[in-house]
Amino acid sequence: MWKSLLKLRPLAERFIKCEVGNGLKASFWNDCWTPLGSLIKCLGDDGPRRLRIPLHSSVAEACSKDFWNLPHPRSENEVILHAHLTTVAPPVPTSSADEFFWTVDGIKLSKFSAPKTWQQCRPREPPKEWSKLIWFSGCVPKHAFNMWIAQLDRMPVRTRLERWGVTDASNCPVCLFGIETRDHILLTCGYSSEIWRYVLPRLESPNVCFMNWTELLSWIKTPVRGNFCTLKKIVTQSTLYHIWRQRNNILHNQVLIPPDTVFRIIDREVRNIFLGRRGRRQHSLVFLAKV
Ligand SMILES: [Zn+2]
Repeated sequence: MWKSLLKLRPLAERFIKCEVGNGLKASFWNDCWTPLGSLIKCLGDDGPRRLRIPLHSSVAEACSKDFWNLPHPRSENEVILHAHLTTVAPPVPTSSADEFFWTVDGIKLSKFSAPKTWQQCRPREPPKEWSKLIWFSGCVPKHAFNMWIAQLDRMPVRTRLERWGVTDASNCPVCLFGIETRDHILLTCGYSSEIWRYVLPRLESPNVCFMNWTELLSWIKTPVRGNFCTLKKIVTQSTLYHIWRQRNNILHNQVLIPPDTVFRIIDREVRNIFLGRRGRRQHSLVFLAKV
């Protein structure tokens, strides 16, 4: 285990900064006590020879009385180091001990923080332009997660299972004759379309159905007045969630609830979501079942 931890030293190096006090503990070459980082990396392996400071010297050992004991600079990085050291007073024995800090993004932390460190270490990509349609304040996590998987087209629909060799059937388990893709089961299947036909008019949508996922996303993105936008996203996610649930229901239990009943479930759920929120708005009442 210790060997594994030691392997992480190069990763931890950039987070550890040293504030020089008396200069006795800080390593001149290895600790990060100047803005140049580790000087052995900055000036190279022959740095100790060129600066006439042995590799294991402390910062204090690079000073003579009250000045930095360095030869004339002969490289650009050495000039930068000299320039920096002219702004720093050499350490004196009466100062406090050198201190080491865990820093994240240039900010000194009083103690180690795993979340902040992970945020700095993890690979980052720019936010996806659809992320706000799925993850937003007030979303229902299980609905948002379902839509996220759908957005990535990672749902275990039969066309994908067939590609993996898990099943021979690629037909839709609900209507039996369509090919089950994400867009079919969630949007264009006769069963799903009927549910959308109940849902969309109540969201003042000119659409009565969607032909594909891009059309659905573009409809959600279309600007609408006030908080109606949140209602639209919540209803969409709830609808997608319940369609997918019914698809699994027929596949595993051989039971399929009629579309109007599914709509009532969606409607009740959406009302509960809004009624459970503080500062609820009147717009939630627009979406009352009138089937
Ligand atoms: Zn179908």
